[in-house]
Amino acid sequence: SGCYTKNMWFYEVAPTKIVRSGAAVFTYHSETELFIGQLVLIPVGKQSLQGVITKNVIKPAYETKAILESIEATPLPKPLIDLSWWLSEYYRTPMATVLQTVLPRGLTKNRRTPKAQEAAGAVRARTQIVLNTDQATAVSKIMTTTSETVLLQGVTGSGKTEVYKEIARQTLAEGRSVIVLVPEISLTSQIIDDFAGEFEHVLVTHSHMTEAERHLAWKKALDSPIPLVVIGPRSALFMPVPKLGAVLVDEAHEPSYKQEQAPRYSALRAASVLGKAAGARVVLGSATPLVADRYVAEAHGAPIIFLPKPARGSAKATHTTLVDMKKRENFKKHRFFSDQLLHTIEQNVASSRQTLIFHNRRGSASTTLCESCGWTAECPRCYVPLVLHADRYTLSCHICDHKIKVPTDCPECHSANIIHKGIGTKLIESELQRLFPKAVIARFDGDNANSETVAERYKELYDGAIDIAIGTQVVAKGLDLPKLHTVGVIQADNGLALPDFAAPERAFQLLAQVVGRVGRDERDTNVIVQSYQPTHPVIQFGLAQDYEGFYKFALAERSRAGFPPFRYLLQLTNVYKTEAAAIRNAKVLVQELR
Ligand code: ADP
Ligand code: ZN
Ligand code: ZN
Repeated sequence: SGCYTKNMWFYEVAPTKIVRSGAAVFTYHSETELFIGQLVLIPVGKQSLQGVITKNVIKPAYETKAILESIEATPLPKPLIDLSWWLSEYYRTPMATVLQTVLPRGLTKNRRTPKAQEAAGAVRARTQIVLNTDQATAVSKIMTTTSETVLLQGVTGSGKTEVYKEIARQTLAEGRSVIVLVPEISLTSQIIDDFAGEFEHVLVTHSHMTEAERHLAWKKALDSPIPLVVIGPRSALFMPVPKLGAVLVDEAHEPSYKQEQAPRYSALRAASVLGKAAGARVVLGSATPLVADRYVAEAHGAPIIFLPKPARGSAKATHTTLVDMKKRENFKKHRFFSDQLLHTIEQNVASSRQTLIFHNRRGSASTTLCESCGWTAECPRCYVPLVLHADRYTLSCHICDHKIKVPTDCPECHSANIIHKGIGTKLIESELQRLFPKAVIARFDGDNANSETVAERYKELYDGAIDIAIGTQVVAKGLDLPKLHTVGVIQADNGLALPDFAAPERAFQLLAQVVGRVGRDERDTNVIVQSYQPTHPVIQFGLAQDYEGFYKFALAERSRAGFPPFRYLLQLTNVYKTEAAAIRNAKVLVQELR
């Protein structure tokens, strides 16, 4: 019914709320012409929902309702819509759920523009830097390659930031925008400072933004008449910048590039898809690329660009020491600070030199090992450490369910010194404060909710006001600290205890990255690494920052045990109210799968 109307347009609209399972789009009409990517309000039953116009269609056979109004005049960039569809399909997530992640909340709310905020105070002394030959070659390769995604593998201190800046500069000169992804951590302010000092139009997003701030930043990107630089964590990938020309992913090996709630996604994969859709360059930068990323790049013949040495020609190799934690004679003064580490800290404190103590507490509680000989409980089939179940007093493999009773004496040396305990950063802090009462000590462990305090503390760290910094993963990345003299690692094999095939990789990355905080300029520096397993290849390669060695080792291990990148691995998570119910239902699921 109804008469033919000349000025009538029909569109498929994807609502941002699930209307009916399995249906991602619905057809509406409009008496004014609208654009693909435009955000609109549509009537659904008695409600009105927000949605994105995804397609122009011909008049369907059924009666359609009218689009109520458009929310934004500027449509979302087409590549962002392509990416949303890809996320929905690849990660088996309803389009509505994807759009809730891609779009800010409160789209229809009127926001008051806050008073202009100054970019964070520049911490670093800025000098004009001329790219060295390796950096210049990297830039020209990245700018001229026809491949969408490029791996930039540059050792710590090789000056990847300058490469990112030069690519951003050239991309902006082409009239195109740049998105820089940084790991989800406030200490990355260094790269933000760097970019803010260099470029005029920099938009920074972070996870502590309010709904209004997020919405305003998003609108600014959407309506920007000029190309922008956006810097932020993985979600910055969804900023609707005009004419995307490059996506630069810093520290691309960091776990925070994976979102662990629905829609679960890898920002690296998503960046590649977005880059392809936009015809933009995608650069994955890291000193320690994920084994799988490096393998896939090789298998696909994608360019791998190396920055093999520190950017500063004057950089002096750091002095490294490995302390065997099994030898109690190395620990005469303290249970977990070796005599050598304590001696070095003492000297540093006396001569106002900075020390960084790194401790990876993840997985630290579940290590079961022999304190006398360093034996650790491992699954004989999967080569992963066994996890303690204190309630039943068993050790079990979280991959194949192999179980053993917690041994009362060591199977290797028969000593009764079987321990399970880990060491926390708070304990490290209080012990160091007791041992060095005059030293200024600060802890950085990622729990600090207040980003301003962290930024302030970081400035003190940079300026040298802090004598001893204690940190977890947070301090292992990206930091360039001019006053740092010594890096100490409490227990380098800690992360190896996690029941995850990628645990050795993570342990290697953390060790190589933390060692890479020194040896960046002409100063004499040293690294003291303590470990129960000083001969373990991961510890050896990490201490030597030998990525190629580690890469070959890891590939061989994974090939032997049948792990990615040689097999696909699907993780199914069972969530129930009680552990018993979760185990029972997981077992049913296993039966069904078999
Ligand atoms: P990465 O991120 O690769 O670990 P950075 O980008 O932090 O390394 O650079 C390490 C240090 O080297 C920084 O202090 C940086 O200013 C300096 N640097 C970078 N490129 C050059 C260059 N071409 N000449 C001199 N110093 C440089
Ligand atoms: Zn033993
Ligand atoms: Zn096993």
